[in-house]
This record gives sequence, structure tokens and C-alpha cells, in this order.
Amino acid sequence: MTSRASALHDIEAYADQGGFVEELSRLVSFPTESQEESRRDDLFRYLNEAAIVMLTDIGFTCRILENPAAPQLPFLYAERIENPEFETILIYGHGDVIRAQADQWREGLEPFKVVVEGDKIYGRGTADNKGQHLINIAALRAVVKTRGALGFNAKIILEMAEECGSPGLNELCSAHKELLSSDVLIASDGPRLHPDKPTLFMGSRGAVNFDLRVDYREGAHHSGNWGGLLKDPAIVLAHALASIVDRRGQIKVPEWRPTSLTPEIRKALEDCPVGGFEGPSIDTDWGEESLTPSERVFGWNSFAVLAQKSGVPEAPVNAISGWATAHCQLRYVVGTDPEDILPALRRHFDREGFNDVQIVPMELGKFHATRLDPADPWVVRVAASVQETTGKKPVLLPNLAGSIPNESFSETLGLPTVWLPHSYPGCSQHAPNEHLLLSSCREALRMMTGLFWDIGDTRAALSGSST
Ligand SMILES: [Zn+2]
Repeated sequence: MTSRASALHDIEAYADQGGFVEELSRLVSFPTESQEESRRDDLFRYLNEAAIVMLTDIGFTCRILENPAAPQLPFLYAERIENPEFETILIYGHGDVIRAQADQWREGLEPFKVVVEGDKIYGRGTADNKGQHLINIAALRAVVKTRGALGFNAKIILEMAEECGSPGLNELCSAHKELLSSDVLIASDGPRLHPDKPTLFMGSRGAVNFDLRVDYREGAHHSGNWGGLLKDPAIVLAHALASIVDRRGQIKVPEWRPTSLTPEIRKALEDCPVGGFEGPSIDTDWGEESLTPSERVFGWNSFAVLAQKSGVPEAPVNAISGWATAHCQLRYVVGTDPEDILPALRRHFDREGFNDVQIVPMELGKFHATRLDPADPWVVRVAASVQETTGKKPVLLPNLAGSIPNESFSETLGLPTVWLPHSYPGCSQHAPNEHLLLSSCREALRMMTGLFWDIGDTRAALSGSST
């Protein structure tokens, strides 16, 4: 057996003999809900009692870095520097989870206890993101165990505030450019395109959230005495929303229509089918009519009304409400100027006569769009390694449809960024009954072990040491 095969054999045993589920159960048992004030100690405990222990064990030097934007939401920095001549890989993950929604999980499941049923490993944070960074750490460990070294330098950033919109991550990268300097970011978050298809993505759509608010007067007024005389804020708001998109959701604000869907990107997206298994069925009559479903979600912008309110829906009364509000979001691809998204909407509203509609920006959930050319040498190298390990040609997505804090790495640190997601679209991320698939995890464990093996192999060959 070659050394590479023996490292893969080692990681298969970890997946098949329960080692992975056991370690994941421990990580999931920390209730690291970063949005809950009461869980702040658990964020530190996750790092001190779990992550640092695992990483120290395989020769990483660890330290907690204070979050420059929110000291109670820490970062972990870990490094294993083998040789300054070697390539340096930056690895990112997040140990915080979204709110548990404990009362909504189905019978027999609870958020902070891992339950395995068939191929599914349930628990809050299994998919997002504890299972994903555990896979990568376990793969590093398998390489260190078999080779006695990685063959490259590894730096790891574990964030504990991703579910709050990553406050401080960009400032941290700015302040620690030297410390974090690397050749590439390799990270895992989000879903594969299909459970059986190893997927690489090289950026993400950005997201901007904002409220639209129509505020006419104090309180509500009797709809019999005043209906027909008072402007109805809900109706004005509905018309304003209808001026942003048409009845099939096609964007009408000119600056919000991207110009970055080039023939190359369209070509890359031909191999990236969407839908067709667990998850809701796609509405083919929704979105930009001239585009394919993959182009609509990976190559275009989409506008959504996430919540909307006027009056008291739970107990309506016969009155014209004084105000109406909608919480909205634009997901956008590169080529949309993030600084001009809300000013462009203001100009649009003013042109359309909706001067009454206020636009209130929300800081939370503000990620910029990023994208790396699928022909980048790092993408080619990672894809070749994945193909060798799995025997499958990986799907190359120019960017994820969801949003991740990739700009800190791609823009602030200037790194090529390659993401290898280990979850799948049906994983119920951000919902009750979150889970991972054991079969995908097994494949991902092999894939990452092979990848770290191969990255270290090049350097080992160059420096003349044998593997
Ligand atoms: Zn998340």
C-alpha cells in the first residue's frame, strides 16, 4: 500500500468505526449560539475545551485572538509552521451556530445531541459548520499521522460569530495580514450541489439587507370614517415593491441587473445543475426568463421580501394603519457595485414617484460578492486531487448562491479562495432537524485527506525529502 493509500485507509476507519460521529457529538454538545447573549461563555469553551485540544494534539500552536469589533465573540488562530520554504494554506471554519429552535425539532431529536438515523447525522451545527471543519481537521491529522508531517504550513482561523454576519473578521484580517499571509484559502462551508457530487466553489454572492418603510402618521384611523381619505401605507409599499421586480421576480432596477454573466461563466454553469432531489421543487416560471435555473441562482441577482407587516396581522381591526414595513434582501453577484445598491434603489424610487418610501440599511448579513476564475491554477490543482481520490470530476461553481465572508480572504488578504463544501442542499441548515449525510462525510474525509496529502507531496518532492 502506498503512503497516500494508507492515509486514506486510516481516515476510512475513522469514518466507519464511529470516530467521526463521536468527535462530532462532542463538538455539537457545546451550545454555541452566537446570536444569544447567554451563550457567550460557550463560545470560549468551544475553543478552549474542544478546538484547541484537537489542534494542539497534532502540533498546532493555538491562541485566541480578540475580535476587534466584538470582544465577546472570539477568534481562534492556530498554526503549524513546518518550513518557511513550504507553501502555506489558510483554513477557515466557524464554531458558532444559528439559534437552536429547540421546540421545533421533530420527536426524538434535540439540537445539541447528535442522533444518527440511517445515513443522517442530526444536530445543530453538524452541517453548519462543526462537521465541516472537523472533517478538515481530521484530514490534517490523518496526513500528520501517516507522513509524520504535513509537508506544508497550515494556518487555521476559527470564527465564533459567523451567524451574526462575521463582525470583526475583515478588521482581523486587515490587522493581522502578516500573521495570516498564505498562498491559498482552502475552506469548507455550505452545500455541495448534490450529495454525490464533490463540489468546488470559488466565491459567493453578496447580500444586502434593508427595511423599506412607509410611515404616514401616528396610530391607525377608523377605516369607515377615513378610508378613501388617508393614504394606505401597505398599498403604497406594495406598489413600491412591485416597481422593484415584476410579477415573476425579474429585477427592474437597472443598476441591479448584473453585467458579469459572461460566456465563460455561462459555460461553467452548464455543468452545475440545480434542484432535482430533496428540497423544494424549483419554480421554472420564476426569475429572469431568458436564463437557465443555474444562471438565475449563481450568475444573477435576486430580490426577496423576507418579512412584511402593516397593522396587527394577529388581530386585525377596521382601521387604516399608520405605517407599513418590509424587510428586504438583495443577493448579488460580482459586477454589482455594493456601495451603489441602496443609492440606486433611492434613485429608482424617486424616478417612480415613491419618495414616501424610506430605505433603512441593516448592518447584519452584509457580505460582498466574490468570484475566482475557475481556470485559476489552485482550482485546477485542487480539482485534480479530488478527482484522483473520488474518481469523480468535481463540479466547479464560480460562486456559491448563498453568502459567506469570503471577501476577507479574497480581497483583504488577496488570496485565491477554494471552498470544498461537505454538506448538501437538503441539510436543513438554519432550520430545525439540521443534519449531515454520513456517506458524504466519508467521501469528504477521504477527499480532504487526499488533498492535504497531495499539497504536501509537491513540497516534499521539491525539498528532496522522501514520503
Ligand atoms: Zn450558517
